[in-house]
Amino acid sequence: MSQVRVRFAPSPTGFFHIGSARTALFNWLYARHTGGVFILRVEDTDQSRNSEEFLNLIYNSLRWLGLDWDEGPQAGGVFGPYRQSERGHIYKDYLERLKASGRTYEKDGATLFRISGQPQVIEDAIRGRVERTEEKDFVIVRSDGNPVFHFVNVVDDIAMQVTHVIRGEDHLSNTSKHTELFKAFGAPLPVYAHIPLILKQNGPGKMSKRDQGALIEEYQKRGFLPEALVNFLCLLGWSPKDDREKLPIAEIVKLFDLPGVNQSNARFDEKKLSHMNMVYLHALEPDRCFSFARDYLYSQGLFAAARPEDAYLREVILLCQPKLRAFEDLPGFIGYFFTEDFSYDAKAREKIFSKGDPKARVGELLAALPEADFSSDATLEALVQALAATHAVATGDYIHPSRLALSGGSVGPSFYGLLRVLGRERVSRRLERFLATA
Ligand code: GLU
Repeated sequence: MSQVRVRFAPSPTGFFHIGSARTALFNWLYARHTGGVFILRVEDTDQSRNSEEFLNLIYNSLRWLGLDWDEGPQAGGVFGPYRQSERGHIYKDYLERLKASGRTYEKDGATLFRISGQPQVIEDAIRGRVERTEEKDFVIVRSDGNPVFHFVNVVDDIAMQVTHVIRGEDHLSNTSKHTELFKAFGAPLPVYAHIPLILKQNGPGKMSKRDQGALIEEYQKRGFLPEALVNFLCLLGWSPKDDREKLPIAEIVKLFDLPGVNQSNARFDEKKLSHMNMVYLHALEPDRCFSFARDYLYSQGLFAAARPEDAYLREVILLCQPKLRAFEDLPGFIGYFFTEDFSYDAKAREKIFSKGDPKARVGELLAALPEADFSSDATLEALVQALAATHAVATGDYIHPSRLALSGGSVGPSFYGLLRVLGRERVSRRLERFLATA
C-alpha cells in the first residue's frame, strides 16, 4: 500500500479548542502509527472570518501539544502552498477540468456542480458503511468568485494525495457531496474516518468553543502539562482496550488504529483531565518539573522584582511537587519560602495553643539546631524523634507548632523536607520570631 497521507485542515476563524485538538491528534497518531505523513492545511478562504491571530494560535497550540507536522505552513512540502488563500490558481485549474467535462453550469452568477444523483456509499473506518444520496446540484463557486468549502476541500485532498480523511462527525453529512466531486474528477476516494463528537460536560449536546474548559490556550496558560492533556485527549474516543489510562505517547502511537476509535460520543470531563494532569505532575522528572514550574511562575509574573536563586527555587519546587494538584496551586503554596513577612493562621494558632506547651517544644527544637545535621530529611527526622523521646512527648508536638512558625499555616510539604530546604538560618530566625510573637 502507498504511504498514508493525512491532513488536519483547520479554519482559523476562532480559538483553538478541544475538539480541533483531538482531530489533529488522531490524524497525527495515525500518521505516526503508520509511518505516514501528517499535513497541516489551513482552510482560510473565508476572508471575512479568518485572522492571523487565530492562525498563530493553531500553530502554537499544535507545537505545545507536540503535534509536529511534516508538510504545511512553516514546514514546506512539495504539495504547497498549504494555505488555501494562496491556492487560487489550483482551484481555477480544477474548475476548468470540471467545466470541460460538462459537470458545471452557471446560474445567477454562481457556478453549480451537476451531481450524479447516485447513492454515495462509503466504508467509514470508524462508523462502517454509510450511504447517502445527494438530491440537488450545489454551488461550487459563489457569484463573488470565491470557491466554496466542499470544492476546495476536495480539490486539495486530491492535489495533496490525501489517503485518509480523519475528521469530526459533523462532516459526515458533507461526505456525499465530497465523494460526488472525487468521482467527477476521476480521483480515487480516500478512506474516511469520522470521529464521534465530544459532548459537553453537563447535559446533552456537543461541546462548543464557548463551553468552560474548551480552549487549549487556557490549559497552556494555567500550567497544565501538555503530555497530560494529550493523554486525556487520546482517551476521548479511543482506549487501549485494557484498564490503563496513563500511557506514554510512544505506547499510544504503537496501539492507535482507526477501528479502535469508539463509535459512541465521548463526554468531556474536566475532573478527569485535572486528575490526569496531577498524575503526570507527580511523575515528572526533577529537571523538567523544575524548569516547567519555574517557567510557569515567571509567566505568571511571580518574582518580577527579584528572581530567587535557581538552586533554592528548585529545592522548593521539588519539595512541594508531591503535594501539588496542579502548577496553578504553586504560587499560593510556596509564598513563605521567599519572605519572612507572613502571619500565623488564626485557627491553626488557636488549635496549637489549646493543648500542651508549644513554645517549650519550639524552644527545644531551636536549642538543638546548632548541632543539627541539615543534609537530609532522615537526619532531621532522627533529631526530632530523639527530642520527643528525651522529653517523653510525641513528634507531632514539635511538628505542628514548628510548622506554624516556619510557614504560618498547618498544611504544606513534608516537615523534615521543609526544615532542610529552609535551612538552619531561616529555621532559627523563624522559631525565634515565634517564641517572641506567637
Ligand atoms: N476546515 C474544515 C473544518 O475545520 C475541515 C473539514 C475536513 O477536515 O475535511 O471543519
